[in-house]
Amino acid sequence: MNKHEALTLLKAKGYKHTDKREDILELFEERDGYLSAREIQTLLKDDYPGLSFDTIYRNLSLFEDLMILEETELDGEKMFQFHCTEHHHHHLICLRCGKTKTIEVCPMKDLSKIDPEFQVTGHKFEVYGYCKTCRKAMNSRESDQEKRSGRAADAVYES
Ligand SMILES: [Zn+2]
Ligand SMILES: [Zn+2]
Ligand SMILES: [Zn+2]
Repeated sequence: MNKHEALTLLKAKGYKHTDKREDILELFEERDGYLSAREIQTLLKDDYPGLSFDTIYRNLSLFEDLMILEETELDGEKMFQFHCTEHHHHHLICLRCGKTKTIEVCPMKDLSKIDPEFQVTGHKFEVYGYCKTCRKAMNSRESDQEKRSGRAADAVYES
């Protein structure tokens, strides 16, 4: 799913085209990963100062019902991203920026033999962590902090 497909689907289902809806979809296109309603509110606050959390949430729920978006929960917060319509796959999810990466590994291939009497109808498998960009950013912030606390310690030592 992408912005263009989503807009076409909304039109086909008889939903009004609004700049707001298009801008929300644009954010997902730019992110290429998960976004929370709160992040969307923050990102759109300059263009739509009065945009309420409820309005955003209602649109996200609509997009989810129409299979435009899929959701997951990270740290107790609902996150949304464009629904993956390609073949079966799973995601690596960055907890810092929400970006996702497709992995072709499916653990169900090995688990399916565990209980032959249980009829499996679906599964969910997500891998959480930090992407390369975020790891770099986090590392440099850590060393900044070390430098700062190092300087503070020097100052104490000098006096
Ligand atoms: Zn995917
Ligand atoms: Zn990241
Ligand atoms: Zn799978």
